[in-house]
Amino acid sequence: MSRKVLVLGEVRDGSLRNVSFEAVAAGKTIAEGGEVVGVLIGKTVSALGEELIQYGADRVVVVEDDKLEQYTSDGFSQAFMAIVEQENPEGIIFGHTALGKDLSPRIASKLSTGLISDSTSIEEAGGNLVFTRPIYSGKAFEKKIVTDGVIFATIRPNNIAALEKDDSKSGDVSSLSVDIKDLRTIIKEVVRKASEGVDLSEAKVIIAGGRGVKSTEGFNPLQELADVLGGAVGASRGACDADYCDYSLQIGQTGKVVTPDLYIACGISGAIQHLAGMSNSKVIVAINKDPEANIFNVADYGIVGDLFEVVPMLTEEFKKLKV
Ligand code: FAD
Repeated sequence: MSRKVLVLGEVRDGSLRNVSFEAVAAGKTIAEGGEVVGVLIGKTVSALGEELIQYGADRVVVVEDDKLEQYTSDGFSQAFMAIVEQENPEGIIFGHTALGKDLSPRIASKLSTGLISDSTSIEEAGGNLVFTRPIYSGKAFEKKIVTDGVIFATIRPNNIAALEKDDSKSGDVSSLSVDIKDLRTIIKEVVRKASEGVDLSEAKVIIAGGRGVKSTEGFNPLQELADVLGGAVGASRGACDADYCDYSLQIGQTGKVVTPDLYIACGISGAIQHLAGMSNSKVIVAINKDPEANIFNVADYGIVGDLFEVVPMLTEEFKKLKV
């Protein structure tokens, strides 16, 4: 059965986030030969429509308004619902990001439809589209099918591969004029606490520090390794609670959920709440002084040692490989 699927392109600092392209790929799977319509919402975002098309969208609908410069669930839901009314889709895909997690339940409730959140894969099996999502903090996976209504899902970043970009592809990028009613919340200023650089939730390589880093300065060798590998620095809640770093770096049950290709845990004991945020990483390396640390139970490679000796050694070796 072919479907029309709306895919939300997420814009940050004037660029589309990678999860937008992964969402287009997921949208293609759900469309089953039907149409994938990219959606862009913001102040001036229409120039990004072409890129969504090059990653596989058939066309793009844009809603632009000064009131949409910053994300608010109020403004974005008005814009998205106007597109839903125009397009009448049978499927909707968002990234499982802070924005997607905030907006999707609101849209699902307006549409009186269900929502499969945090999907890590979507496959066709036995005539059904089967969505897989982690449950119990990643200890188990459940599989879901939708039997009725709009198929609405959010996808976890870094799990569903984006399609190859086709620079020669073009398509229609159209504007929809929407009268955005006065917003109940107005964002005056956004203050970034996290360090500029690779986005943690989309990073392919993460070097994470725990209480074992012992201080804010203790994160410096981790940052150096991250820089050499083109990765991002993350943290356990232990490190955040100890004020060694900002909570925006926290990974785990009450922090960010990440799925990088490589996760290097430095001085992290491996509490279940931390594992909930990183245990689905493709390759896990643990560096810990304590050979009994629980983190070694999920690690593919374990190094028993002092992180302040091991991490700089790794950085030097990776530097040599890059030359
Ligand atoms: P510790 O458990 O103190 O471990 C430090 C580790 O560093 C030890 O294993 C030690 O051997 C090692 N170490 C020390 N020095 C060195 C050295 N020089 N070289 C190498 N290794 C060294 N935690 C999260 O991370 N994320 C969450 O989202 C989260 N959510 C939570 C939600 C709830 C409701 C609760 C109750 C807890 C939550 N926690 C979370 C906290 C979690 O239970 C742990 O307390 C926390 O993960 C511990 O952080 P840590 O591993 O950095 O510290």
